[in-house]
Amino acid sequence: MVVGTLQRSCQVAVVGGGPGGYLAAIRLGQEGRDVVLVEKEPALGGICLNEGCIPSKALLHAAEVYTATRHASEMGIEVSGVSLDVGRMVAWKDRIVKRLTDGVRTLSEKNGVEVLHGTARFTSPHDLEVLSADGEVVRLSFEEAIVATGSVPARVPGFELDGTRVIGSREALSLTEVPRRLVVVGGGYIGLELGSLFRKLGSEVTLLESAETLLPRLDPEVGQALGRRMRALGVDVRLGVRARGVVQRDPPVVEVERPESGVERLEADVVLVCLGRAPLTEGLGLEAAGLSTDARGFLPVDAALRTARPWIRAIGDVAGPPLLAHKAYREAKVAVESMLGRRAEFDNLVIPAVIYTDPEVAWAGMGEAEARAAGIRPRVGTFPLRASGRALTLAAPDGFVKTIADDATGRILGMIVVGANASELIAEGTLAIEMGAFLDDVAAVIHPHPTLSEGILESVDAALGQAVHVLNPKG
Ligand code: FAD
Repeated sequence: MVVGTLQRSCQVAVVGGGPGGYLAAIRLGQEGRDVVLVEKEPALGGICLNEGCIPSKALLHAAEVYTATRHASEMGIEVSGVSLDVGRMVAWKDRIVKRLTDGVRTLSEKNGVEVLHGTARFTSPHDLEVLSADGEVVRLSFEEAIVATGSVPARVPGFELDGTRVIGSREALSLTEVPRRLVVVGGGYIGLELGSLFRKLGSEVTLLESAETLLPRLDPEVGQALGRRMRALGVDVRLGVRARGVVQRDPPVVEVERPESGVERLEADVVLVCLGRAPLTEGLGLEAAGLSTDARGFLPVDAALRTARPWIRAIGDVAGPPLLAHKAYREAKVAVESMLGRRAEFDNLVIPAVIYTDPEVAWAGMGEAEARAAGIRPRVGTFPLRASGRALTLAAPDGFVKTIADDATGRILGMIVVGANASELIAEGTLAIEMGAFLDDVAAVIHPHPTLSEGILESVDAALGQAVHVLNPKG
């Protein structure tokens, strides 16, 4: 029901208040632009802050504390009576989310951004209609716009969500009890993170993945190391199986096809569907703006994030893979700079990626196979964390650092870190690649001792054949 109509015009309309949209709006506000940020949900922050990056990492940390407490006796710490109050754990996570989303609101307002709550759709190449939850309509005309509407879980026939028994990541991050039997469909990063989270909280977890290895596009050592740890944690990882669908709802039963043994039915208390995400443009009225998506549903953009209508830019998940918050942040900055008439292109050499499993997995740039496929002979240095003093003091000896360089020049092409704090360590590899560093450059940098970052130094030394704390390969 439409209860009233208002008219407003602005220099820039930003649709979507996730990492891409809010960062762009704040930067535009800082630069003195008249900017309106339109968000359909009550809170700013998008998927990342409300139901993605932040809530998942909060709960993963809480689950890690719970596990560590129960396994501290090796260090002489006897803890008894450890118990789990999932409701309070989720409430703690919600407080973190609120603090951050409130922070984004304050920053937006203090930087002169007008936040308009409602669902936006284009009615022409220079107009949006914004319908608020209470039925008010704002007709918003703009000189320029940024589309940052993000993504939603991919809809896969046979895996329709019902929100209680068959759920997606959003519901998983707000569960008030730990399901006894959890089947996770999909072994991508969200499935792996949430599967290990619930295993640590006590669920019997079965993880179904159609590929023959975990993370098949990465260095095979990564999938193997992760698979070993997931199994040691007690996750029943089933590879090379095809989940055909949820064939019964209460209790849910997943039908699974195995190449050799035929069809199997897996009963669970909860089925968690993690089958990827799809760009969100439904209901956005793209045709009225003269825009269309590509075959996969993304909005095509050029290096300055301009769509086919150059005054309309698109950033973040809706503008193409990888669907990661830090890609959205960078694109927002580039879009704003180019909008302000400054030279700016999304020309980053690498976009780092992290999976917050135990151990964490992080990578940036090329793996060995990718380098070979590009016609480059790779030179590789690997340092196992079991040889790291710091890893041992953290009781985290699992994992390794691998540096991949061009054998002919020594230029660093890629880095893979598997281990504690891989998420933090990969920033050094990313910086090295982005700055065009050579192995010698990193080898000459003093790394503090004892730290996990020495693992990076050691892997670089190993690539140079100069490792001291592990044996150098012969020949
Ligand atoms: P979004 O965050 O999706 O925000 C889009 C916003 O637009 C939403 O708030 C939506 O309500 C609004 N919107 C949509 N349509 C309209 C409309 N028509 N009108 C008004 N408003 C609209 N990424 C990482 O980098 N690291 C991680 O660790 C990580 N963990 C994740 C864990 C999970 C469980 C999930 C689901 C995702 C995770 N991601 C992670 C991905 C990350 O959340 C996204 O890449 C990021 O949020 C994309 O930002 P965005 O600004 O493009 O879109």
